Amino acid sequence: MRFNSKLPDVGTTIFTVMSRRAMDEGALNIGQGFPDYPVDPRLAACLVEVVGEGRNQYAPMEGVMELREQISAKLQTSYGRRFDPHTEITVTCGGTEALYDAIQAVVGPGDEAIIFDPAYDAYEPAVRLAGGRCIRIALAPPAFRFDWDEVRGRLTDRTRLIIINSPQNPTCTVADGDDLNALAAVIRDRPITVLADEVYEHVLYDGRRHASVLAHPELRECSFAVFSFGKTLHATGWRVGYCVAPPEMTRELRKVHQFNTFSIVSPLQYAIARYLTAHSEAWTGLSAFFQAKRDLLAGLLRGSGFEPIPAAGTYFQLVDYSALGSEPDTDFADRLIREAKIATIPLSPFYAAPPAMTLLRLCIAKRDATLEAAAERLRAFAASRTG
Ligand code: GLN
Repeated sequence: MRFNSKLPDVGTTIFTVMSRRAMDEGALNIGQGFPDYPVDPRLAACLVEVVGEGRNQYAPMEGVMELREQISAKLQTSYGRRFDPHTEITVTCGGTEALYDAIQAVVGPGDEAIIFDPAYDAYEPAVRLAGGRCIRIALAPPAFRFDWDEVRGRLTDRTRLIIINSPQNPTCTVADGDDLNALAAVIRDRPITVLADEVYEHVLYDGRRHASVLAHPELRECSFAVFSFGKTLHATGWRVGYCVAPPEMTRELRKVHQFNTFSIVSPLQYAIARYLTAHSEAWTGLSAFFQAKRDLLAGLLRGSGFEPIPAAGTYFQLVDYSALGSEPDTDFADRLIREAKIATIPLSPFYAAPPAMTLLRLCIAKRDATLEAAAERLRAFAASRTG
């Protein structure tokens, strides 16, 4: 049979590759981002309750109203503005579906989308499947700062979308108010939409506050903002996320969503709605929770040869292994899995043209005992390389 791939150069996502390798090698997996501790038992109890009550048929296409109301209240608390659950909020299958739907709603054949490398790996294939192409602007390690003049220079009359991710995975950096103002100035009076991947909205460190497009008067009028209960409630496997956008953009997003997943698992939506109704503060302690984990792991690794790069947000931590070797990050990560029995995520797969760098991403959404065990293995590996 002849079959022409639409994505011939796309392999399996690095997260799945590394998780599979971790299983095969019996390695401790601190690569792919997911917690290894349980969800709040009260959230689990809500799920059991709603299933028993018979909430087991199709949810409304846009999302269960009780959940959209809770999301609206949460957005009001976080970003100081009311978003209409009827016309501006759509529940999706994780953040990934929201990203895909928004991209399909905006990008057409020949259109261009600007993304920033290292870019989360779901963006480019979705743009290409829509017939568009990505203009990839590289952020340079270790600061990974935006250069808005460069962005301006890469605009063409085909530019339709700019995808921004803050807090940024995998760099652990955050965009600030100046970045958002610069972005607003770049797209002003142009037919360009913003797709803001803000799934780590509640994980910023050292007193930083999240600069959301939803709190920006200009940007919120032309942005899809994407969020994730997977991150906020430590339940990545539930695959419940949502997208917030002005009514006319939400209408277009829903045209894609309704024929993609149609609607999201209803008991999960009812369970989250019930849980947030009773515990509306559930997500407020996330920064402190993860900051303690960041500090624990960074403290254990400092001076080991795996030098932690200060993290401003996300539940990841970058480490620089340049003291231990100069081989490419994918090779080094592979060696770590085999020799140290630790799975990490290299950064080069997130670049179109990777710069020279010696960085690995570690996930800190783990029990303290897991982080301690990981640090011990990394220190032992480092000692064997330098000793
Ligand atoms: N968001 C997760 C991460 O960055 C990965 C999700 C996935 O495996 N697709 O690790």
